Amino acid sequence: MSANTPKIVYNVTEELKETFNRGLMVGRGIGIFAGAGVSVPSGIQTFRGANQMDYFDGYPPTYLSTLETLQERPETCWKFFLYLYQLVRVAEPSVTHKVIANWQNKYISRGNGSAFCLITTNFDGLLSKAGAIPHELHGNINKAKCLVCNNVYSMDALDLQNLPPKCECGQILKPNITLLNDYVSEDAYQQTMRISCAFYFCIGTSGVNNHAANFFKHIKDKKMATLIEINPRPSYLTKDMDYVIRGNAEDILPQFEYGQIN
Ligand SMILES: [Zn+2]
Repeated sequence: MSANTPKIVYNVTEELKETFNRGLMVGRGIGIFAGAGVSVPSGIQTFRGANQMDYFDGYPPTYLSTLETLQERPETCWKFFLYLYQLVRVAEPSVTHKVIANWQNKYISRGNGSAFCLITTNFDGLLSKAGAIPHELHGNINKAKCLVCNNVYSMDALDLQNLPPKCECGQILKPNITLLNDYVSEDAYQQTMRISCAFYFCIGTSGVNNHAANFFKHIKDKKMATLIEINPRPSYLTKDMDYVIRGNAEDILPQFEYGQIN
């Protein structure tokens, strides 16, 4: 039902609630693409939010977030990674993380978990901390991985006093996240493309990232779902949506009153 121009609203209207509830009653799935905006209320910034961050040995975070720089200046890169990890470690899930986890768990408890498609480009692990099971396209900073032998370590188990931390094999570790010029988990991405949902929510993503853009283009081309963007600002994805709800997800998402649906 994708139209050329999305309908823009500022709260969840009765029409939207009815559309949503009708879809759920016939057992159709929900898809959610959660971007960086979902974690902003938890105090998490992204590589691209780097302008507000401190510099590390005089280098900007975007420069430190590449595999090349990690090879050239591992200690400085790790000062930056450690800064991100420490932010994530003390962060608590936002209302949005919790609502999403609650929706997914309702699907799972009804034996319909596979119809719930949750994708995130956030590497902060906050959806999991809230009790959700996301496909983490950009990995998770609570873990680190060897660049050579692919051994994975829990960040908490590493000696982070001496940077960079190293693998048993002697090679430098990288946080288990997708750096700016790095590979993503194509498996997770392709898997999520196969799930057919009645609704796809696009929450807190600017659409600069190709994965979000490709994902929603694919869904739109299939013309089988209602696409709903929740974002306080226009994004690159807005034009592909059926509905746009202009506002913060923590205010908007609970208005769907999914808790009342059995
Ligand atoms: Zn190794």
